[in-house]
Amino acid sequence: MLEASAYVGLGSNLDNPQLQITRALEALAQLPGTRLDACSSLYRSAPMGPQDQADYLNAVVRLMTSLAPEDLLDELQAIEQVQGRVRVQHWGPRTLDLDILLYGDAVIQTERLQVPHPGIPERNFVLYPLAEIDSQLSIPGLGELQVLLEQCPATGIERVHAASSAVSP
Ligand code: ATP
Ligand code: MG
Ligand code: MG
Repeated sequence: MLEASAYVGLGSNLDNPQLQITRALEALAQLPGTRLDACSSLYRSAPMGPQDQADYLNAVVRLMTSLAPEDLLDELQAIEQVQGRVRVQHWGPRTLDLDILLYGDAVIQTERLQVPHPGIPERNFVLYPLAEIDSQLSIPGLGELQVLLEQCPATGIERVHAASSAVSP
């Protein structure tokens, strides 16, 4: 299968989020048939949903991958498991969340997988890091990233300028 560019959103707010993100980047770089092609800065963001939880650390990466979308999801969920993801509460605290944001220009609506990820338009912690990687992105069914950004202020997010190996692929 030809390589597709897949954008993946990372998030963590438990058990040393910076380390969780670093470990996730290492794991993503080692996925079969996959190259870690670009990585945004890290962002600190206020939690969505339940407010009685710590701030999140977020980032977005671009993968070049020959994995099919559902196979990529399997691999991402396996990484979440290795890093101790436990699903207790919807949008509750987690060691690691890996969401497929985009998979080429595919539109996927299955039981397990919705691509583009439906949360993209209202999530500034996704839109701003996405724009760092490719400001000219156009998102199937949702339009130009630039337009989505104009409609989504950067309230509650802060770009973390840590000189961290976490941000170099
Ligand atoms: P949200 O998807 O709103 O960010 P979440 O990431 O906390 O919420 P999870 O508990 O990580 O949700 O995942 C719940 C289910 O979402 C997964 O079992 C998976 O099948 C499904 N899912 C649907 N679309 C996607 C996608 N694009 N990326 C990752 N998981 C997805
Ligand atoms: Mg998520
Ligand atoms: Mg998820």
